[in-house]
Amino acid sequence: MGGHVFARGRDLPVAVRGQGCEIVDADGRTYLDGSGGAIVVGIGHGVAEIGAAIAAQSADLAYAHGSAFTGTALEEYADRLAGILPVPDARVYPVSGGSEAVETALKMARAYHLARGEDRHIVIGRSGSYHGNTRGALDVGSRDGLRAPYLPWLGQAAHTGTPYEYRCASPVHPQACGQWHATQLESLIEQLGPQRVAAFIAEPVSGAALGACVPPQDYWPAVQEVCARHGVLVVADEVMTGFGRTGTWFASEHFGLVPDLLVAAKGAASGYWPLGLAVASGAVHDTIGEASLTHGFTYSHHHVGAAAGLAVLDYLTEHELVTASAVRGDQLGAALQARLGEHPHVGDIRGLGLLRAVELVVNRDTRTPFPRSERVTERVLAAGKAAGVLIYPGTGCADGTDGDLLVLGPPLVITSEQVERLADLVATAVGEVLP
Ligand code: PMP
Repeated sequence: MGGHVFARGRDLPVAVRGQGCEIVDADGRTYLDGSGGAIVVGIGHGVAEIGAAIAAQSADLAYAHGSAFTGTALEEYADRLAGILPVPDARVYPVSGGSEAVETALKMARAYHLARGEDRHIVIGRSGSYHGNTRGALDVGSRDGLRAPYLPWLGQAAHTGTPYEYRCASPVHPQACGQWHATQLESLIEQLGPQRVAAFIAEPVSGAALGACVPPQDYWPAVQEVCARHGVLVVADEVMTGFGRTGTWFASEHFGLVPDLLVAAKGAASGYWPLGLAVASGAVHDTIGEASLTHGFTYSHHHVGAAAGLAVLDYLTEHELVTASAVRGDQLGAALQARLGEHPHVGDIRGLGLLRAVELVVNRDTRTPFPRSERVTERVLAAGKAAGVLIYPGTGCADGTDGDLLVLGPPLVITSEQVERLADLVATAVGEVLP
């Protein structure tokens, strides 16, 4: 996320091979992939079956335009997804990645209200959130560093707070701040005028942007009730949390959240194909009607993408990787706690399943973040990479301030031994930068 230069002349190792949780570079160095790239690779690297499924579909038929044809892989994939998605009577719109999925869902929300004769157009997001790098997705997200260079913005978004007990704006007990945050959301909806608010978008469990913040249990039921009462659609962004990452197929399940719209990507094809999914409930879909969503990308409904997604679903199921994520995730949480729990600069260790984060602070008592000029996260990531472990940077705290977050999201195939080694290597990297 951010800061990427164009393709030539980059001073980076040349990745040549991957197997399971490891990546090997051209100099023969092996890296333990503690982040599955950008928390993408669920089923691990180098799974030959996925390559075979992609090759077979390409050989049969790689591409036919989505407005003219459907396909057997596309139909089977949509059926299989409907069986696991937390969205009632789920209708799936496959695209090429998370940002496209978010844009698609935002347009679905707008189309839904228009079809009902309502001019609802404002989308409410949350402080510190990230929903993609396209204009609309940046607008509903709130990463100022990514938005600021492109201002002025489209101006159809508003933002409310993110509940998380470690940094909570709520005056009530932070572990029970869910209801308070839902009330804040309701105040914002009322202030904007419910007749103007189309949707609320949020990650059920915050991913990399805020570093694996798990909301209190009372949050999502309260939010769902507020949104339903005001006719505001709930969009669950499961781009990072979907497909087993948090120990359930989708993170919404942890909270009984039943979204109207859901977006997924990353784990869907595990990095083997650029695949994203915008999902609407049957009720939303039927209200919009097939003809009224004037939308589509050249690579929407890609046949090879569907074949890759299906093969990844099979692999996740056959190898019971959703359960593995829960088990290895608990192990990783405990291993990080054992090695870093008493470290003077470790403020919080958190997460769910194999989505974990370590928040680094100047002072544990005041929870003060390090000054940006100290580039703490960047230095820990560099120390880790030099020692052979890949860590992902988180960029902000739940209260909207900048922070130092080490995010871990290894492939769900990580072994017990690798979990311990991952925690060792992360602790060593932290110790090197913050002795
Ligand atoms: N939403 C969330 C929660 C994400 O983490 C990301 C990617 N980091 C996106 C959306 C955007 O996905 P993509 O980079 O595939 O466009």
